[in-house]
Amino acid sequence: MNEFAPRHGRNQPSSMFFWPTADRPVAVRGEGIFIWDDEGRRYVDASCGPQTTNIGHNNRRVVEAMRAQMDDICFAFRSHFKNGPAETLADRLADLGQDKGLTRAFFCSGGSEAVEGAIKLARQYALAKGEGTRYKIISRLPSYHGSTLGALSLTGDPAMFAPFAPMMQIQPKIPAPFVVERPEGESEDAAALRFAQALEDEIINQGPSTVLAFIMEPIGGAATGGLIAPDVYYARVREICDRHGLLLIYDEVMCGSGRSGKYLCAEHWDANPDIIAMAKGLAAGYVPLGAVLARGDMVEAVYDAGGYAHGHTYSAGPLACAAGLAVMDVLMEDGLVANAARQGAKLKAALEGLMDEFPFIGEVRGRGLMLGFDVMADRKKRIPLPPELNAGSEIAQACYDRGLIIYSRRMLDGLRGDHFLVTPPLNVTDEEIGMIVDLLRQGLGDFAP
Ligand code: PMP
Repeated sequence: MNEFAPRHGRNQPSSMFFWPTADRPVAVRGEGIFIWDDEGRRYVDASCGPQTTNIGHNNRRVVEAMRAQMDDICFAFRSHFKNGPAETLADRLADLGQDKGLTRAFFCSGGSEAVEGAIKLARQYALAKGEGTRYKIISRLPSYHGSTLGALSLTGDPAMFAPFAPMMQIQPKIPAPFVVERPEGESEDAAALRFAQALEDEIINQGPSTVLAFIMEPIGGAATGGLIAPDVYYARVREICDRHGLLLIYDEVMCGSGRSGKYLCAEHWDANPDIIAMAKGLAAGYVPLGAVLARGDMVEAVYDAGGYAHGHTYSAGPLACAAGLAVMDVLMEDGLVANAARQGAKLKAALEGLMDEFPFIGEVRGRGLMLGFDVMADRKKRIPLPPELNAGSEIAQACYDRGLIIYSRRMLDGLRGDHFLVTPPLNVTDEEIGMIVDLLRQGLGDFAP
């Protein structure tokens, strides 16, 4: 056990100014889907933290690979040296991105950095093509793209960027496709196309020659609890981007790296994005690691025009990439992407089953193990529960008290109800799914709106 635990235990003051963590237990050990606290209590982590520990805790193959790399070299600066783990991991990502034309990878240390890297690559590419007037990036409302200033300005959550205004130029947003909210008689596909049309309307509104790109989470995460649109949406968004010369960026920081049941979430649809931002599951919590996966010809054009003028101290560090490579090996050799698809279908069916018992569950959504649900006072009319009930935090806390961790968020515009992500590791077993559903049923049962 960590020798500092007694002094820095629960309810002790903290020198960090971070989250209000004072009343939280101290995590001391992890194994697979379980975390133990300093009092020996076990938690089932059906959230993977913020959808990060995708192969569970304490995977020996990853720990051993990191140890072996540490014995060799922990850090070598990319301007001075190449390193094997980074080159190999880039090759592996390029192989996986090949069918989508995404054959070049840039490494960074997390999701916000990956989104920043995507924005800066898009801007440099526009300049290389002589299209420097294009700088706006349309995103969706609600959405989450990160906490750094650039990524935050794309985030569809006015409350999140308000404390920092007017430091950033806030980028234009279009409504995210909640196709479940549609007039009677309109089909889901027609609603999806209506939401896609909002992109074209906004491009025209902004002036097409000023718009650089459209960014979206192909399956929504923290802001929308697993929001996924009918297939026609993805194809139409690509068509609109092509028609107006926009780049299409997928933020797969949360839904990528196998979680959706395909390694790249983009593989679910024929349409190809130009750039994908990745992080979280890429090194699955063992180290901070993010990546920008981009079209080869875009990167070549930027290089021909003088190079990609962007990078971080830790970009492509050997230790981080060795961990990422070992995580990739575990995912591929143990068939965890297919397991995410299989177990995700079971978990989704079980969550849908809970809708019969709990009429306040509004909608279950997502694909693979990128799953979520929201809570509503009226499911059919999509009327949210009154905010004073604090359904999101109450339900998540009831689950936590019973030893189950799920991820909850209050819907920002107050219109669509609080929502949850249920996102266990990709190697979750049948027995563990049973455990998650039982505990969730109990947690939901403790909440009586
Ligand atoms: N994009 C998405 C879709 C995310 O879910 C997150 C993190 N929740 C980020 C970007 C930012 O990632 P990070 O916190 O690693 O900077």
